[in-house]
Order: sequence, then C-alpha cells, then structure tokens
Amino acid sequence: MSKSPIIDAHNHLCARPDMALTAEMLIERMDSIGIDKAIVFQENANMAFRTPDYNPYIGHDYIGAVQARYPDRLIGFFTMNPWHQSTGVWGWKPGRCELVKRNYALEELERGIKDLKLKGVKFHPGVHFYAFNDSYSESKGSIDDAPGIVAAVMKRIVELQREVGRRIPVLVHAATGGMVDHFHSPEVVADVARRFPDVTFIMAHMGCPWHLAGAIRAARELPNILLETAATDMLSIRKAVQDAGSDRVVMGSDFPFLSSEAMLEAVRIAVTNEEDRAKVMGRNLALLFND
Ligand SMILES: [Zn+2]
Repeated sequence: MSKSPIIDAHNHLCARPDMALTAEMLIERMDSIGIDKAIVFQENANMAFRTPDYNPYIGHDYIGAVQARYPDRLIGFFTMNPWHQSTGVWGWKPGRCELVKRNYALEELERGIKDLKLKGVKFHPGVHFYAFNDSYSESKGSIDDAPGIVAAVMKRIVELQREVGRRIPVLVHAATGGMVDHFHSPEVVADVARRFPDVTFIMAHMGCPWHLAGAIRAARELPNILLETAATDMLSIRKAVQDAGSDRVVMGSDFPFLSSEAMLEAVRIAVTNEEDRAKVMGRNLALLFND
C-alpha cells in the first residue's frame, strides 16, 4: 500500500520588498518537513491579475508556470476579485457606469482555468470587500434572478467544471474576529455552498477563532464543505474532526505567514487515530483532485 500523501491546502507565493516566497523556496521547505504537495495562490489576494512585467512573481501566470514546472508538488489556485466585472453584474442601473462593458474577472477566470490549467479558485471577501453571499441576502427568487458579483462568478465556475470535465474547488477565507466577519462568516459561506451543491467549498480557517461552531454546523449540513485548519489550534482541529468527521477536515498552514511545521505538529497531536489523521493530512484533498 502506498503511503498516504501529506498535502497542505493553504500556501501563498510572493515576492515583495519585505518578504519573498518563490515556488523553489516553498518546495525546499516542503522537502525539509515532509510535505508532498501544496495548494498555492498569490499573496496577496489583490494580485488577481495576469503577471505584470515589473514583477514576474505575482499574478496568475506565475502560479500557472510553477504548477506546470512542478506538477507533482504544486496545485495552483486562481485568485478571484469579483469586483473586476462590468457594472451590469453588480445590479447597477444604467448611467455612466454602463461604459464598463468587459467582465475582466470572468475573462481572466476562463484563462486561468482553461489555459493555465489552475485547479481551483481562492476568494478573500475581507480583502476585496464584499459579502460572499451578496447575491442572496435580498433575493427571493431563484439563483438565476439574483444579481450580484459572486453569483455571476459562481455560475461561471459551475459551467467551467462541465467544460473542462473536472472539479474546481473554491477556497474561501472564513476566519472570524475582524470587523468584516459578515463578509465571510461560516453562515455566509454556507449560504453560497447551499446554492451550489456541485462545487466543493474549502472553508479556510474554519470560522476560527470565534466561530468554529458555525463552521462545524455548516459542514454537518452541507456535504460540499471541507473545513481547513490554517490559523487554528489543536483543540479546534480535534473538535472539528470529532463533530464534522475526519472526511471533512483538511490540513492547511497559511505559509509563509504561519508555520507549516507547527500545523503538522498540531494535527499530529490533535488527531490520534491514524486513519483519521491520514485523511486530514492529505487523503481527503488527494481524493478531491482525483490523485
Ligand atoms: Zn492565507
């Protein structure tokens, strides 16, 4: 029987004046502590663009290029800023804003998934300033009637799954304890996950530090939610595995902002059953990506 893989669901690559993490640096780190594969996306979430000439280490081209260079080690995710759409999508009435016709977000999404072959999509509603469930809060009709910047993107992701014949998991920042918790609380993420049952949602930080209970409740209600451990602690991980099940929790570190080594250790201590631990450490994600 082959060894169960260790897959880290949450890593940022970047090159900025105060910090740099290239794919090579990450892989060296993974080798030194025994991580087989890593989901990678941009730091910071603002870099929802093609790679600009002035910095070849930011943008989707870089993530796509390193995934192609290290296909056995890296799983590249697209970074979505749903505000990068034409104003019609926002539900705004015609006016000067009508001038903006292009839907850059969806154009770039298609390029990221089809041309760069990125495997999933990262959302950070707090950084880009929108409620992840913005489309639904006031909508009484079907999903197709709902205006809103996230609905348009989610619908396109569902179509793209069909077009490319593979799953496109969505990873959403879902920590609590800030002023914009209502943008990405577990309930808000669940609101969208409920309406898109064919998409797998990875709930980053699983509502921690203050709302683990909401994340567990969401995972118990909705089979398409996975809870991801970045920035949480041993007791929260143990609780999530106990109450949501080991099939529903995935290890993520948020490297380089947080220690991947410390997260591996936290999971080792929190999950004592070997079978459960193997699932959390990587088997669940391996299944998701059909490895
Ligand atoms: Zn992060």
